[in-house]
This record gives sequence, C-alpha cells and structure tokens, in this order.
Amino acid sequence: MYESYWQKKGDETTVVIPGWQFMSYFSDATRLCWFLEPEFAKQIVRLHNVVGNAVTENRHIVVGTGSTQLFQAALYALSPCAEAEPISVVSAAPYYSSYPLITDCLKSRLYKWAGDARSFSKNGPYIELVTSPNNPDGFARRSVVNGSEGILIHDLAYYWPQYTPISSPANYDLMLFTVSKSTGHAGMRIGWALVKDEDVARKMTKYIEINTIGVSKDSQVRAAKVLKVISDNSEGPNEGDSFFEFSYRVMAKRWKQLREAVQQSGLFSVSDFPPQLCMFLNRVFEPQPAFAWIKCEGDIEDCESFLRGKKILTRGGKHFGVNPNYVRISMLDRDKNYETFVRRLSTIRS
Ligand code: PMP
Repeated sequence: MYESYWQKKGDETTVVIPGWQFMSYFSDATRLCWFLEPEFAKQIVRLHNVVGNAVTENRHIVVGTGSTQLFQAALYALSPCAEAEPISVVSAAPYYSSYPLITDCLKSRLYKWAGDARSFSKNGPYIELVTSPNNPDGFARRSVVNGSEGILIHDLAYYWPQYTPISSPANYDLMLFTVSKSTGHAGMRIGWALVKDEDVARKMTKYIEINTIGVSKDSQVRAAKVLKVISDNSEGPNEGDSFFEFSYRVMAKRWKQLREAVQQSGLFSVSDFPPQLCMFLNRVFEPQPAFAWIKCEGDIEDCESFLRGKKILTRGGKHFGVNPNYVRISMLDRDKNYETFVRRLSTIRS
C-alpha cells in the first residue's frame, strides 16, 4: 500500500552496500545491544521525537528481526527463572493471533499461553501483552488484569499517525515497534524495543545473540535510511510530501470506502471510533486501523467461510480468541486488490 510513496521518492531511499562493508558480527561493542547499528539507533530516537509517539530518554534500544523476534526475546527476559511453573502469558481477546502460537511453539518451561486476559484470575506473576492500537479490532488499550504481579509488554506496532491520533508519547517499561506497519517495509524484518530496565534489555540482547547472533546489518542500514527520509520530510520545507500525510490520506480514503460498502451491503457491521486530537498531524480524526474487524449480522455463524464463498479472504474470530461471526480483513493491500475487495463486499446481499 505504501509502495507508491516509496516509488515517488525514487533514489532518496536507495542504499548501496559495497561487498567489503558490514562484514563483522559487531556493530558497536561498547553498547549494551552490541549488534545495533549506531545510525539506526540515532534515526529511531529522531523519528520518535519528530512524531511524539514514544519516550526515548533513559531507554535501551534492542533491535530485532522484526518485532516477532523481540516478542520472544521479551518473554525470555521477563520470565522468572526460579519458578517451578511456567509464567502465564495473557492478552485481552480479541488478541493478535500469533501470540498464542509463538508463546507455545517450543513448549517452554519458562512461559505458557494462558488465553484471554479478561478471564485470567490466577494468583502470582503473569505477563500481559497490551497491543495498542489493537490488532485485530483497532481500539486503544490499557492492561486489564488487576493483579499486583503483572509484567507488561506494550506492542505499539500501530501507534503511528496514519492509524490513530498520537495523543501523547507512550511511556511504558517495554515497548515494541516495527517497520512492517510504520513504513510498510515488512520484508526488511526489522523491529526495535525501547526498554527501561537495563537487566531486561541485557537479557533480550542475550536471547537474540543465542537465537541469531544479532540482526542483519544490511537491513538495519536500509531501515535507518527509510526512517531518516521520513523524519527529513516531516520536518523540512516539503512537509506536504510527508510520509505520514500520504499514509494518513490513503487510510482515510480506504476507511470511507469500507464504511460505504458495509452500509450498501447491510449484512455487516464495523465499529465506530471516538475522534481525538493528533498532536503530530495537528488535527482531530477517528482512528483508521490497519485491519477492519467486521461482524457478520443476522444468522451467518461462520463469517470467514461465508466470505470465502464470496471470494473475500479473511481471518475468522476464533484465531483471535472470539466468535466465528467476526473476521479480520487487512486494510493494507495494494490499491487494486483493495478496490476489488470493497466492490465485492458492497454487492453482497442476504
Ligand atoms: N505485533 C503486531 C500487533 C502485529 O500486528 C504484527 C504484524 N502482523 C507484528 C507484531 C509482527 O511484526 P514484525 O513484522 O515486525 O515481526
């Protein structure tokens, strides 16, 4: 979806790497995260300061092969190693469908998926994943478990101004970000964590050392360039040409088309979101999430297979810990596919 913006930027974001460069495992051996490229670290801090979506002061940056690797590193770092039982990992339903799969994949003795945070009542320590804005439903979230021994991971993959108003800089202990959703470069496999506690940052770094001995430098160098171009264009004289202005407009258009299609069909419903002031774009708008969380109304029980029959591919509610009358649809496909999708949705009748 963001391809056309980057095409328009032409060579501004082109990176050339000679064969003799970035050959070592190390980026900066004096840093806690020794495989983090200094230029990438600099551009992360700069972009957060430009956008105002996260506090970076007194934080350690840990780079990962996507935020997917950082999520695993965080589970490793936050799990108490002296406990007899694995620590419970929870998130309020509907939750990102990969969390249970990743958590239980290796049947770890350190941590274990324990399902919907809203029905979690076990005593003792637990890890709660807070995704805000949430995948799949787009709502802003806070932790929901009312325990005293909770450890929180904030997955802020979608806390960017094209998806939601930036009301204040996020200021949590462990925050995860990714280029996949911020700039659209999912294939670079680059994410970063902002971590308050030094010991936790060290353990996360250790996990990535054991897992992949660091993170591709080629990708970090490319990511640094992309973030730099976004910051330069957001601050400079070409503000109208900024990435977030572009992506905000595309999302706004797509959400308008989606709501019209839902209304024309009459078979589905989609949530309304309260408008808020975005401090970065300096305007009031309603969140326009990366996914549409659609409910099939009437007597359609399995919305995913119903829509598959109409040639629309979705992910059903059960993957996200809720009923199959909900489905998640990506709003981020290429223009042509998105147009086909809204056209098909608008013509569905009971
Ligand atoms: N967290 C959330 C909430 C996501 O939606 C996604 C991507 N679907 C990820 C993490 C994974 O991001 P990455 O590509 O950086 O591994």
